[in-house]
Amino acid sequence: MSLLVQKFGGSSVADAEKLLHVSNIIKAEWEKGNDVVAVVSAQGGTTDALIEKARELSAAPAERELDALLSTGEQASAALLAMALESVGVGAASLCGWQLPILTDGRHGDASITHIGKARVRAETDARKVVVCAGFQGVDAAGDVTTLGRGGSDYTAVALAYELGAERCMIYTDVDGVYTADPRLCPTARRLERVSYDDMYALARAGAQVLHDKCVSLAREHGVEPEVLSCAPGSRSTRVAETGEGAEVTGVTRRAAGGGEYAAVTLVGGALPSLKLEKRAILALDAAGITVRGVDAGERTLTLYVDRNRSREALCAIHDAVIPSA
Ligand code: ASP
Ligand code: MG
Repeated sequence: MSLLVQKFGGSSVADAEKLLHVSNIIKAEWEKGNDVVAVVSAQGGTTDALIEKARELSAAPAERELDALLSTGEQASAALLAMALESVGVGAASLCGWQLPILTDGRHGDASITHIGKARVRAETDARKVVVCAGFQGVDAAGDVTTLGRGGSDYTAVALAYELGAERCMIYTDVDGVYTADPRLCPTARRLERVSYDDMYALARAGAQVLHDKCVSLAREHGVEPEVLSCAPGSRSTRVAETGEGAEVTGVTRRAAGGGEYAAVTLVGGALPSLKLEKRAILALDAAGITVRGVDAGERTLTLYVDRNRSREALCAIHDAVIPSA
């Protein structure tokens, strides 16, 4: 019997049907006798919609109130998932950040977790209940609700996995792992079996949406090995751990730059920065008729700046030039 942390992102809990699907994924583990602590994001689109509502009232809403508002998205999905679990015959209890508690510093909108109370979770799992934690939130020393930064539910999941000594930390997302590039943008991207903490961190910082950067730092610090997978039956996965696959380039990602006018396409891997790879990337852009606006070398990274409207083509051209096909 083990304790598992299973985190479900916003698209996995977007509606009743998906919540029931997730409940059955949890139930399958729970029926084997495992204790399950689920962590949920807000239902897809909810956080953006709440930010929009705040902006209708103020260009710069008070950070304390914005956190109070945004945390409701995860509070709602946690309660809904607990109801869905009950409806498939699994006892469940939802808990907000302040109820555990998940203590954080006072940096509203980008708080860091300082401590997690374990007694309440243990009491629930001892009673054979699945605990559904609201991700992305905590409470500071003043008793105010804080949020952990966009995508922060991953961070909640890794922190819980570490604090509770979980056997596995499973991060369910829309894709069945970490790819050499976002497979929705680049059809030749392939799934990685393993990614090193260092590369995953660099990918997260460079714009890969798959895992939150603070979550990767915490995982590295404590040796938690998150598994990224999808909700599809028999999903394959990627494990994030000390060592990756050892290729020169692990992945390529993009993000907006220069106030949105440009895009930064970043190559990540143990061989970077490298003049040879830089030349290869520039030649590939040249062949695609894409102008390079600038180049930046960083730790395990090489970034090329291109016009925003060519960023997807640039991503795929560079990907295909620097990552050997399987
Ligand atoms: N709901 C938050 C966001 O959209 C946190 C998360 O999804 O992890 O950023
Ligand atoms: Mg995410």
